[in-house]
Amino acid sequence: MHIHDVLIVGAGPCGLAVAARLREHTPSATFTDDEHQRYHWIKKHGRCMNIRNYKTGRDSLNRPSPSSRSSNYESHGEARGVEQGVDILVLDAEGAAWMVRWQRLFKAFEIDYLRSPMFFHVDPADRDALLGYAYEKEREKELQALPGCVGKEVSKHRQKKKWKTVRRMSQGGPDVDERDRKDYYTPSNNLFEAHCNEVVRRYGLRDGLIRQERVTSINYEALTYFYGENESNDTVDDPLDNLTKIFRVSTDRGAHLARVVVLAVGPGNSPSIPPVLGIESSNIHEGYTHAMQIKQLPPPHVMSKIQARKPTNLLIVGGGLTSVQLTDVVVKRGVDRVHLLMRGPLKVKYFDIELDWIGKFRNINQAVFWSADSDEERFKMISEARNGGSITPRYRKILDAHVKTGKVSLHTFTELRSVSWDAHAKTWNKLTSSPMVEFPPIDFIIFATGVHTNVSKIPFMQSFIQRHPTDMVGGLPCLNDDLMWSNDVPLFITGRLAGLRLGPGAPNLVGARVGAERIAWNVEDVLRKLRSHKRSFGSGEREDDEDGGIERLREYVAGRRNRFDTLINVFEEE
Ligand SMILES: Cc1cc2nc3c(=O)[nH]c(=O)nc-3n(C[C@H](O)[C@H](O)[C@H](O)COP(=O)(O)OP(=O)(O)OC[C@H]3O[C@@H](n4cnc5c(N)ncnc54)[C@H](O)[C@@H]3O)c2cc1C
Repeated sequence: MHIHDVLIVGAGPCGLAVAARLREHTPSATFTDDEHQRYHWIKKHGRCMNIRNYKTGRDSLNRPSPSSRSSNYESHGEARGVEQGVDILVLDAEGAAWMVRWQRLFKAFEIDYLRSPMFFHVDPADRDALLGYAYEKEREKELQALPGCVGKEVSKHRQKKKWKTVRRMSQGGPDVDERDRKDYYTPSNNLFEAHCNEVVRRYGLRDGLIRQERVTSINYEALTYFYGENESNDTVDDPLDNLTKIFRVSTDRGAHLARVVVLAVGPGNSPSIPPVLGIESSNIHEGYTHAMQIKQLPPPHVMSKIQARKPTNLLIVGGGLTSVQLTDVVVKRGVDRVHLLMRGPLKVKYFDIELDWIGKFRNINQAVFWSADSDEERFKMISEARNGGSITPRYRKILDAHVKTGKVSLHTFTELRSVSWDAHAKTWNKLTSSPMVEFPPIDFIIFATGVHTNVSKIPFMQSFIQRHPTDMVGGLPCLNDDLMWSNDVPLFITGRLAGLRLGPGAPNLVGARVGAERIAWNVEDVLRKLRSHKRSFGSGEREDDEDGGIERLREYVAGRRNRFDTLINVFEEE
């Protein structure tokens, strides 16, 4: 049986960012001192690392870089990527293509513009890649200004006035550097998806790379451990593989072997429906759905009432942007009245994390996050920075308009307590809430209540966690600094589940790019170590000393483990 170098679970933006970064030979844009040091290292050891000359587009090992837009790569790039690059397999439960889930949800919620700024994207080549792509393709019109945050040049007088008014919002501070204002525009979804497709094309990530399979369990053991589970000794490509531990990833359609696994599964868990008497959250029911599982909106029995001009009432539960987006969709599709229930207040923010994690002081916050004393402290910072669901100023206006016309009744600080389904009339009756609200019979309930993330509750992680237990805080695994499950287990995690290492932006697109950068660097290390281990074992020799020295330098520049140890070794060698 073939052993893949890397198996990525999840073909969403985070999975795409990792796959693209694994095929990018030149490191991503710099953020931190550590990344500057990587450049110094690359300068010194360029002979064994591919470096692109930004003027000529050529690289030091004479290979065309995928990130250069030269026609040379365009004609040969895909073949080269597959032949010489890391052998990657991607599995996704929703489709055999990139971003199927993303596209489904954006279509269902009729979202035209992303909520995140221009530097949140998946392209490993350049921090400004999405903005650059918009200019290159002359699609600047698809960038949306955020009135009150950044936008057209404003006079000092108007700016002062703006600050006075926007201060009422939680993100009403002057935290965004006006010189970078284009960074804080938001892209249209069409533009964002076109850019993702460009990344897929540029790095040759299309043909046969992704399979539609739902992962059901992951195991990491010596290969011989799996004999008897359909793998037999004589089917392994290389008998030396029997010596090393590998992953066996089981799916609803079979099993795959891999040396490294990357989890890019987003929240990972099933959508959460709060406890309400009369709602069996494990059942599929024609009277309600979770927002993430919407099939048709409004559902057929409501649609036929609308067509018959009978009065229709929907109940939407949730205080985030999704609840308001869905409210707008169903009102536009003819529902008479939407009852919108929020457990807390209506919060208005430009982005779903506080602006000081995105604006010009974001590096300071990120540094405080990284240098926190404990993961409990980091988890607290994540909770404060995200602070529950919120809506954008643009959707606030839309909501206000619907409330004004009587299409929406908004109930903040209200929790649904119990409901009773009348299967004959196909309505919910006897609804109770705290505090009590008078509801008419409700035709359909949508729970826009998010997904509670807890890695220990993900079904496909159960046996893995039993064999490789680790600490968790707030349902998130305490990964090592390389985003690896532990120093001995090369299961890398990116996106929301890597929150304790990536920070409050982890569930968003910024987590995708930063996570990919850290993972790719370390995946290459793990694979190199495995190869050199196998080589030395096969020849019966000790591992090459020069490799060992370079390895320690790599660890130093990547800022891993005790950096002072590595420094001592370096000076001793000199
Ligand atoms: C409606 C909506 C709008 C959003 N808008 C923005 C925005 O504008 N900007 C922003 O930064 N963030 C936004 N977000 C947050 C957004 O979810 C993330 O930025 C992005 O989707 C995270 O990517 P991901 O790859 O981590 O997760 P996902 O996009 O959720 O992808 C995870 C993938 O893993 C697959 N998967 C899960 N379990 C399994 C399994 N067992 N086997 C196989 N495959 C599996 C899923 O099918 C899915 O394709 C939005 C979220 C939603 C719901």
